[in-house]
Order: sequence, then structure tokens, then C-alpha cells
Amino acid sequence: MPPRVLIVGSINMDLIVRCPRVPQRGETLQGTEFRTAPGGKGANQAVACARLGAHTSLVGRVGEDPFGNSLREGLAAEGVDTASVRTDAEAASGVALILLEEEGSDRIVIVGGANARLNDEDVARARALLRKCDLVLMQLEIPLPVVAAVAQAARELGVKTVLDAGAATRAAAEAGLPALVDVLSPNETETEALTGMTVSTLEEAGAAAQALREMGAPEVVIKLGDRGALWVSSQGERYAPAFNVNPVDTTAAGDAFTACLAVDLAAGLPGEQALVRANAAGALACLKLGAQPSMPTAAEVEAFLREARGE
Ligand code: ADP
Repeated sequence: MPPRVLIVGSINMDLIVRCPRVPQRGETLQGTEFRTAPGGKGANQAVACARLGAHTSLVGRVGEDPFGNSLREGLAAEGVDTASVRTDAEAASGVALILLEEEGSDRIVIVGGANARLNDEDVARARALLRKCDLVLMQLEIPLPVVAAVAQAARELGVKTVLDAGAATRAAAEAGLPALVDVLSPNETETEALTGMTVSTLEEAGAAAQALREMGAPEVVIKLGDRGALWVSSQGERYAPAFNVNPVDTTAAGDAFTACLAVDLAAGLPGEQALVRANAAGALACLKLGAQPSMPTAAEVEAFLREARGE
């Protein structure tokens, strides 16, 4: 039987504008390209889990608008169970406005919309699904009290919780979230936001992971970009270097990583193996443009690992 993963998280439409430069205050500028793409960390990770072979259910909200319909249909087409994705008539679907400047870093504005309205009703939906799941995977793009309540319900029911700290702020640490989950998986920036510590070396990552453990997280898996990942638990530290690839676009590498980790832990794989496989999923996501289109399948992860072993 495939592992069963529940995701409670955000669903967005990404609105991507390519422009020569960003406009000044009061200026109107011609962009060169516009496209939409499904996104949101919850939805990205749900798509990844489904492609990696898990039976995947998603609890979330979209607005009663064309984006909402399209997002729901896209998720269903990927095999994600969307029965608990609610259409909220009171809010617009979540969007991320992404400005891609010709030279320079991306500028992103997220409007949570329906994602910001998850409440006790969604916790109740999640609770009902938890009884049929091996693991629940969450991120921080929905209200923190909902994340906390679902984690608490999972603990009561004996279901493992993985928290991808995507969009982490100090508030998430202050809300006591690290102590409510089984596995906390932030990237370097998120680790810094949660701990207030600098994370630029492996040693600093280890120290920050210990700080997160002192906040109550039993296991911490820090994503270290092209350096791989570090797992810290009561058993000590385990480091797995990244695979050597030529990245095309690293967007959502972290989503692929954490989804793979969650699916493998739900399937009962030992941590050491899950860590290497998660690195492989993250590396594969770097090889394709975009968020959801770059999420790898189980077969792609297997083939990548076989090749890396020289088979
Ligand atoms: P996020 O996407 O959340 O910022 P990271 O950049 O840390 O997270 O990437 C997540 C994972 O993806 C890393 O832990 C690693 O396994 C893989 N990864 C990211 N960038 C690269 C890269 N340049 N080469 C190989 N693997 C990478």
C-alpha cells in the first residue's frame, strides 16, 4: 500500500512578470512577458508527494474565482485528493506576484487571500483525514494557530508531523511550533529567522539545529542548498552532501526535498536513506524551470540515484 500523506497548506496562483527593470514609484513600464503558474508551498509539496507515489490529500482553501477553479483542477489532475480543498466565497484565491527583473533578484509579493482564512473548520477536516494518514506535512503559509492545532491533533492520534518551515518568522518559533512537530525542516534563511543565529557554515547550521532542538523539535533537517542537508536528532548529526548538478532554476528545490523526506518517512524508510533521497529530489527540481513542473516522480528519483551510484 502506498504511504498516505496529508498536507495542510497554501495554494497560490503565481503571476509572473518579466520586465527590463522594476518601475520607480509612479512609473508605468512595459513588461516583456506574463504567465501564470500554480504555486503555494502546500500545493507544490502536494504535487511532489503525489508524483513520488504517496496517496496525497490536501486541506486548504481557494477563492470562488477562475484561479481557484484552475488550481483545484490542476491538483486533481496530478492525483491529489482535493475533496477537503474548500472554495471560500469570502476571499480571493492566494496569489504571488513575481517580478523577474532582467538583471537582479526576483521581487515577490504574496497575497494570502483564502489561505489566510483557514480556521477551526479546516482543522476539523484535517483531523478527520489524519485518522487515515501515516504522516502530516505542513508549511507556514497558513495561519500559525491552524498549523499548531493540526500538529496537536496529529500528536494525539499518533501521526508523525513534518513541518517545512517555508515562510518562517520568529513568530513561528515564539508560537512554540518547533515543540509541536516531530521533524522540523527549514532552509538556511528560515533557520536564521527561527533562531536569530547566522547559518553560513556547516558548524553554524549544526549549532542552529541544536538551538531548534532546545526549542523542542525532536528532529531537525536543515536544507543547505548546494551543500546538501544536515539532520540533527538525539542520535547525533548526520550530513549528506548535495548531488553535483548544473542548476537551471532552483525554485522549489526545498519543496521537492521536504516532500520526498515526508513520503519516505511515511513509508517507514530509515532516516539516512530518506536524507539522501531528499537531496536527490532537491537536485532534480533544480534541473527544470518553475515550481510544480520541476517536482520529480518516484521513477526519476530512482533513476537519478542509480546513475549517481554508477549503475
Ligand atoms: P529552498 O528551496 O527552500 O531554499 P534549498 O535551496 O536549501 O531550499 O534546497 C533544498 C535542497 O535542494 C537542498 O537541501 C539540496 O538537497 C537541493 N539543492 C538545492 N540547490 C542545489 C544545487 N545547486 N545543487 C544540488 N542540489 C541542490
